[in-house]
Amino acid sequence: MLNKNLKSWIEVNPKSDFSIHNIPFGIYSDKTVKHHACSAIGDYIIDLYELESADVFDLQRGIFEEKTLNSFIALGKTVTNSVRQKLIELLSDENSILKRDEALYKRVFKKQSEVQMLMPVHVGDYTDFYSSIDHATNVGTMFRDPNNALLPNWKHLPVGYHGRASSIRVSGHSFHRPKGQQKPADSELPVFGACKNLDIELETAFIIGKQTDMGESVSVEKADEYIFGMVLFNDWSARDIQTWEYVPLGPFLAKNFASTISPWIVTLEALEPFRVKGYMQEPKLLPYLQYNGDKNIDIKLDVYLRPQNGTDNLICSSNYKYMYYTMEQQLAHHTVNGCNLNVGDMMASGTISGHEPHEYGSLLELAWRGTKPIKLNDGTERKFVNDHDTITIKGYCEKDGVRVGFGECVGTVLPVK
Ligand code: CA
Repeated sequence: MLNKNLKSWIEVNPKSDFSIHNIPFGIYSDKTVKHHACSAIGDYIIDLYELESADVFDLQRGIFEEKTLNSFIALGKTVTNSVRQKLIELLSDENSILKRDEALYKRVFKKQSEVQMLMPVHVGDYTDFYSSIDHATNVGTMFRDPNNALLPNWKHLPVGYHGRASSIRVSGHSFHRPKGQQKPADSELPVFGACKNLDIELETAFIIGKQTDMGESVSVEKADEYIFGMVLFNDWSARDIQTWEYVPLGPFLAKNFASTISPWIVTLEALEPFRVKGYMQEPKLLPYLQYNGDKNIDIKLDVYLRPQNGTDNLICSSNYKYMYYTMEQQLAHHTVNGCNLNVGDMMASGTISGHEPHEYGSLLELAWRGTKPIKLNDGTERKFVNDHDTITIKGYCEKDGVRVGFGECVGTVLPVK
């Protein structure tokens, strides 16, 4: 499946996330372009609107001039995969029109560092799961019972909740520290104020590429037809607000103030070669959640914290392959009751922790509820995120010298407003 010999005539650093094996989709803007669909190779973006002017895709050109990728994605995988394959062909063929036609080349390629990436899709609905067994075990150990950390339902279904789509932002944004009700341990009554325990959650999210009607369910076997691709996802969380508000219906204001995504949607097809075996799921799941084959994905995930005027500190290295439930199981569960899907819906994995302490995907776990503060290279410590801290998530797959990555998911916390 992986053709290691495939090479682009554009020079690509072996450490670039954007090899010819990737060819992700996004939306960019610069001084002359308000919003065009684009792909990426090496250090460049590929302006798909300009490329379509050479009639290479046989598509309505306006589709690449829209504000988001929703209409393009809705054309279906036959079309979107053929666009991706055509790009791979144009970038690998030494005689392609893109290489030969100098004027076209100049219009199509722009340095990634000279454009601004925008939200790639309009997200109608956002769902967040809780599917990492190490994360769920750590949280259960801290807040309930170390001997009985997982609640009785956990190994029978991918636990999830409906989140807030309006506050999902693309990488590079900043937001104000949230405020709300908290109940200090030494007080009978709640107090109101700035969140003191602002946390991150290292996650990925998948984007729905095919709509369904109410009453329809997507099976585990067919789920991949409905998943367009993936992004990195930081599900910012206000732990002190969460602890007080979440009973009995789950998180609300502790989660809906901001989430950050990486700008490039890496297609499921680009990720296919990196599939790996998942967890042995015991006890046996109900038939609608059972699956065969290698359905986890080996995506290396790193999280960095950068204080104001400081440098990046690597605080976590985890991997998407540690997920207990797969995306396909999450989607089958989400639709088993007949809940309908729309193109652009986003479904996040849940915090991705591994078994080792340096693999924990939240500060809550990394600093173990404040008892083991993280030491930074400027001499300061963190139990949670400070004002002006910048969090960067990076993620990539690598196998046989082939790399497919997501770029960066960056967000900065500003003081309370
Ligand atoms: Ca989450």
